[in-house]
Amino acid sequence: MTSPDALRPRLPSPLREVADERFTRHGVRLLLKRDDLIHPDLIGNKWRKLVPNIEAAAGRTIVTFGGAYSNHLRATAAAGRLLGLTTVGVVRGQELADRPRNPSLARCEADGMRLHFIDRSTYRRKGEPGTQDTLLRALDEPDAYVVPEGGSNSEAVRGCQALGRELRGHGDFVGGVDGADGVDVVALACGTGGTLAGTAAGLAPGQRALGIPVLKGGFLDAEIRGLQERAFGGRRGTWSLDDRFHFGGYARVPAELEAFAADFEDRHGLPVERLYVAKLLHALVTLTGEGAFPRGTTVAAVVTGRPFP
Ligand SMILES: *Cc1c(COP(=O)(O)O)cnc(C)c1O
Repeated sequence: MTSPDALRPRLPSPLREVADERFTRHGVRLLLKRDDLIHPDLIGNKWRKLVPNIEAAAGRTIVTFGGAYSNHLRATAAAGRLLGLTTVGVVRGQELADRPRNPSLARCEADGMRLHFIDRSTYRRKGEPGTQDTLLRALDEPDAYVVPEGGSNSEAVRGCQALGRELRGHGDFVGGVDGADGVDVVALACGTGGTLAGTAAGLAPGQRALGIPVLKGGFLDAEIRGLQERAFGGRRGTWSLDDRFHFGGYARVPAELEAFAADFEDRHGLPVERLYVAKLLHALVTLTGEGAFPRGTTVAAVVTGRPFP
């Protein structure tokens, strides 16, 4: 491995207040927690989740999983390039194998990741030990370090605890960020829920985490309980999910959401990642309009990524 200096982060990530009348008129203060600025290639929560896994891999090949537009696959590939590690991305969809690469998969390959395409039913069974062993043998990587889809395992969840701690404010924790004092609610978009599971565990008593799932299905509550159980031995922190803001499911960006995101970019100069961050910000505007947050509430929205390309 070359020097892990290549992964040196900007931590704690910046926290800044934005003036937006859709919040201020309800007496709500909105802060943006800029995890998108942690590292140019391992963006946002992907840095927090991957770095502990890279340490655990100790130089072995990293095999991981994702869909054709996975931010996690791109981050893993970038880490491989920066550290000189071998990475293999197992991609959902056998039919993609012979098609021209989309920009996301093209980036993975340009960063040296080997792509291996599997059919959707095998992909669904990828967590089963038998399936995994067969796969690693097929890849000729029997000793590889396997990171699950989306990167959410116990190492990742514990890594995300630091995000919660940074939002405790100076009074509570030396690592807290300027201006974090008084954060009541930490809001973030959820895919696998690993980031929420860790963040909630890092918050101070009296603070709570609010997750906005970007996938349809309502299965995430149980997933997050399981992740916290495995990482910490039980439920940690105060957290809840609001399932109303997935806009039809993963990677669905209807015109209304696109317009909302473009408008937010104009107002605040923030590049708004569409698959997760736009859904989060839209949820917060809606919830604030509904009076979900009492006057005087400070909400920190975690900017977990930035647009690609
Ligand atoms: C991966 C990702 C998430 C989801 O994180 P989970 O830990 O899987 O819930 C959120 N936002 C962005 C921008 C991401 O890339």
